[in-house]
Amino acid sequence: MVDDCIFCKINKGEIPSTTIYEDDDFKVMLDINPASRGHAVILPKNHAADLFELEDEDAEKLFKVARKCAKAMKEVLHCDGINVLQNNGEAAGQTVFHLHVHLIPRYKGDTVNI
Ligand code: 5GP
Ligand code: ZN
Repeated sequence: MVDDCIFCKINKGEIPSTTIYEDDDFKVMLDINPASRGHAVILPKNHAADLFELEDEDAEKLFKVARKCAKAMKEVLHCDGINVLQNNGEAAGQTVFHLHVHLIPRYKGDTVNI
């Protein structure tokens, strides 16, 4: 837990979020500013600023959770595709420095810019 980290606060329930999946290691919530309908973000419960700080154990589990949620999203949202996106560093577009993975459902003919 890092005191001034917004995603640590969300993980602890200090800031509300629309959670769509949760287990001991991860919370998955809807993005507050969605790029598309159903855009979700996977947050590890352990704070790591980015991929370079992520523990191996969390890295191993992360893609499994991404796949589980992507499958569920495909069924529920009937999207035509899903982008799995993860930004590291300001230059790469990272704005929240608690590692997270975006799940961005895509719909045929949409105009999402990522
Ligand atoms: P980044 O640009 O760092 O890869 O992505 C950060 C994402 O977190 C953005 O898509 C932004 O909309 C989302 N976000 C930032 N603050 C909050 C928040 O308080 N709640 C939720 N649900 N999403 C947030
Ligand atoms: Zn954090």
